[in-house]
Amino acid sequence: MVRLVLVGPPGAGKGTQAAVLSEHLAVPHISSGDLFRENIDNVTPLGKEAKSYLDAGELVPDEVTNEMVRQRLTATDAAEGFLLDGFPRTTPQADVLGGILAENGMQLTAVVQFEVPREELVRRLLERGRSDDTEELIRRRLDVYDSETAPLLDYYQDKLITIDAFGPVEEVTSRALEALRARS
Ligand code: AMP
Repeated sequence: MVRLVLVGPPGAGKGTQAAVLSEHLAVPHISSGDLFRENIDNVTPLGKEAKSYLDAGELVPDEVTNEMVRQRLTATDAAEGFLLDGFPRTTPQADVLGGILAENGMQLTAVVQFEVPREELVRRLLERGRSDDTEELIRRRLDVYDSETAPLLDYYQDKLITIDAFGPVEEVTSRALEALRARS
């Protein structure tokens, strides 16, 4: 049983690693960004609320985000473990996650941080070409990461595993799996 939170700046390859790791570990990959994008594509009320924030590179307000994640985490497939990608992104969200887990008798196994040099992040993001990957938005999302999300590294210091995420995808995956095995 493994319950992981993945943390890393935009462009660190967190989403890619999450998808691969969820296969290896046989737990669902729960991505708050993907949940928002699905809602936006399907023009749901939640999607309508979230769209302007994604378009601006800003965080979606907690009232919307926390409830969406709570519902996803309490779906039956998450009872056997999960890999959470993109949530929490702030320390108040981490408190909310702690509450959801406690209510369901769950504990996090570890928090995996993906570390990549800043110039490499910008290079990767410019190459990727997602609609929220314009240069201005990239800069905004990196600033939001530094101010809002980086404090999670202290918050979770007891559970933190830091992975050097500079290098080929398969190598980064191996480093992450190795670090997780060493922990358990
Ligand atoms: P991501 O795919 O993780 O890069 O997320 C894309 C966008 O979705 C972010 O720039 C935010 O606008 C929004 N988002 C994703 N996760 C969260 C979260 N935990 N809290 C607030 N907004 C979020």
